[in-house]
Amino acid sequence: MAEANDVLRQYNVTVKGTEKKGKGLFAEGRIKEGDVILIEKPLVCSQFLWNKTYSYTACEYCLKSMETAQNMARRLSSKYDLELPYAEQCCDNLKQRIEVFQCPRCKEKYCSEICFQNAEQKYHRLLCLGDGRRNASHPINQLDEAWKKVHYPPETATVNLILKMVAMITQSSDPKETREDFLQFHAAIRDQSQKMVHKLLGEKFTEQLETMYNLLQEVSTTMDLNKEVGSLDDLRTLFGLIGMNGQGIGTSSLSKYVHNIDAMNLSEDEREKVDTFIDEIYDNISEVSGQFLNCEGSGLFKVQSRSNHSCEPNAEVTFPNNNSTLVLVALQNIQPGEEICICYLDDCQRARSRHSRRKILRENYLFECTCTRCELDMGEISQTSSSEEEESEDDCDEMDED
Ligand SMILES: [Zn+2]
Ligand SMILES: [Zn+2]
Ligand SMILES: [Zn+2]
Repeated sequence: MAEANDVLRQYNVTVKGTEKKGKGLFAEGRIKEGDVILIEKPLVCSQFLWNKTYSYTACEYCLKSMETAQNMARRLSSKYDLELPYAEQCCDNLKQRIEVFQCPRCKEKYCSEICFQNAEQKYHRLLCLGDGRRNASHPINQLDEAWKKVHYPPETATVNLILKMVAMITQSSDPKETREDFLQFHAAIRDQSQKMVHKLLGEKFTEQLETMYNLLQEVSTTMDLNKEVGSLDDLRTLFGLIGMNGQGIGTSSLSKYVHNIDAMNLSEDEREKVDTFIDEIYDNISEVSGQFLNCEGSGLFKVQSRSNHSCEPNAEVTFPNNNSTLVLVALQNIQPGEEICICYLDDCQRARSRHSRRKILRENYLFECTCTRCELDMGEISQTSSSEEEESEDDCDEMDED
């Protein structure tokens, strides 16, 4: 199952072992600011369940956002008569229409027949619900509902990823190899001192973990899947794996549209008019839909998952193609031998204090950050009082604090 062509470009970087942090991604040659270091497709990915429930329409296989930019802007701003200028710029084929291919059995949506066939070949043959799609008592639908009760938005993981992994192993012509593909992802649930436990596995999660485990057993029996998750500990390990390695993916026809507009050759007047219009749309959207702009999901990427974290990263993960294909871009010039680091935190979390950043990293990725910024911050005596600190934390939506 290890398709060599998942990595579409790997430029001047290699994966190497390190003494302290396990494996890391290192520059082999000179890399310039803005260079594309890596283009990679995920081994497996899945849309978040709440995101799907709230009508963010994405291709089941590649997560491509399948609304037109205009429909997306209308939905997110609740302005249903909105007309985008140059609306055709949202689609690759410049028609104001996005092709949708449906699974003939369950009617699940795909952006193309190719995506459907890829899904079918990897996992969908077994996971297709057929007529059972609308049956709330189907074990897969029950599993989805159980998961949604555990993990309200903003979402950071999904049990669907685990289900797809099990189906991929079962469907594979070489299950052992496929299993090993997944097992090479680092999946600690405790650190060496046995203290840190992944946030997805915290105390309040114990009961739900058992519910999820029982439902997974039921799904496996109903759908004829391998019993890959043989015990609660197996399931814990898998949650640790997707929690620590799952890379968030965001896609949007609207942002694709905005990028295309930016690249258009417009007169100064027209440019100003269009920019003002787009700014207004985004203001409206942020009032109505807040931070939830994209089709969102998470995926496992073999090479990218080797890049370690820094609060002051030299590279950045992007999804410029309106699908799950990841593009890693250098944020500065990088010298041969230097480690390539990305930031595991979102912009808001990244702006927080050293204490707060390290807490998030500890709970979600099970390590104590010793990046240059954290080391520098430690040297300075903290000027913020604890109440100021809490205030600044309130500005951000906590990952899954409920
Ligand atoms: Zn697709
Ligand atoms: Zn189907
Ligand atoms: Zn740090």
